[in-house]
Amino acid sequence: MSTAGHALAFAPPSVAGQTRRNLIGLDRTELAAVLAELGEAPFRARQLWHWLYHRGATDFAAMTTLAKDFRARLADRFVADRPGIELGQCSEDGTRKWLLRFADGNRAESVHIPEEDRGTLCVSSQVGCTLTCRFCHTGTQRLVRNLSPGEIVGQLLLARDELHEWPSPREGRLISNVVLMGMGEPLYNYENVAKAVRILLDGEGIAISRRKITLSTAGVVPMMKRCGEELGVNLAVSLHAVTDELRDTLVPLNRKYPIAELMAACRAYPGIHNARRITFEYVMLRDVNDSPADARALVRLIAGIPAKVNLIPFNSWPGAPYECSSDEAIARFSQIVFDAGYASPVRAPRGRDIMAACGQLKSASERARRGAAA
Ligand code: SAH
Repeated sequence: MSTAGHALAFAPPSVAGQTRRNLIGLDRTELAAVLAELGEAPFRARQLWHWLYHRGATDFAAMTTLAKDFRARLADRFVADRPGIELGQCSEDGTRKWLLRFADGNRAESVHIPEEDRGTLCVSSQVGCTLTCRFCHTGTQRLVRNLSPGEIVGQLLLARDELHEWPSPREGRLISNVVLMGMGEPLYNYENVAKAVRILLDGEGIAISRRKITLSTAGVVPMMKRCGEELGVNLAVSLHAVTDELRDTLVPLNRKYPIAELMAACRAYPGIHNARRITFEYVMLRDVNDSPADARALVRLIAGIPAKVNLIPFNSWPGAPYECSSDEAIARFSQIVFDAGYASPVRAPRGRDIMAACGQLKSASERARRGAAA
């Protein structure tokens, strides 16, 4: 494991002493409106978009297709800011994790997971989380606030900066996939997430296709349809239990939207079919949800839904009330689901040496800071 601190990037004040506005996170219409205020023609917005999101430029002076005086006026008023990096870590297996620091001092995390045929960036949607899932470390941190579209997109731009992946390559990308599976519940910050996703999808910029973006939800039932209709991204559902009794404890959101309602929303998710399945995430907790009877009940629950089941070995954290299931229990569970006709991969633990599971780096750094202050 290696650790490195980085200089924090904040927008310095402009010459006139006013804070310069961050352009990252504005959609095309907003960007055009901003330029119209400067008296620029709409096609300039398209050029600027290309520099910001295809080339990853942060320095207006380098945007050589724009007129010099226009570049100077942009530089005086705007920035193309990313979050700062408070801590960057690289695991022995190549997984990288960044503890990000936003302009107001709040922190969240993103993780890059390289694999043979793809590279996945896991991004956060909120600072903290309101859901208090019992096995999740972020659940022990209170919600501070939603992330803005710019802060969500900024996580990808920053990872691209760090991996030196500009301009946006057509193929062989280090970041080919994005999962909204970091801190927070994306469907509780839907508007900002939707705006960020549309920027990621834009073919003249970052250009990641819908098939390569997955949104993970604990089951905010009333938002699922909209997500499918408006964004058309893949859906992952954090199921983790097959009875309301247990799920009420593990994922307290279940008390609001119980399993039957969640399953109905999954069946109705727009655009699902066999090539476009829903992923059910299921964290393996020893003697809690990992019996063969649980596996059989899971199969009955998802009957008829084009689905796959991701079995996630529980990633433990200090003080966690659960343990990870045994390898045998996980293998047995996976076999039952597989025999029923569903792909049931066991997610390989990645980045264990850097505590890459949800919320862990943020808490570790806060403990260290409290320790240092004591
Ligand atoms: N709120 C969203 C997205 C964030 S959590 C959701 O619930 O889906 C992303 C995934 O990580 C969820 O499936 C969550 O249940 C899982 N997860 C959280 N903490 C974990 C841990 N300690 N070990 C294994 N999986 C965990």
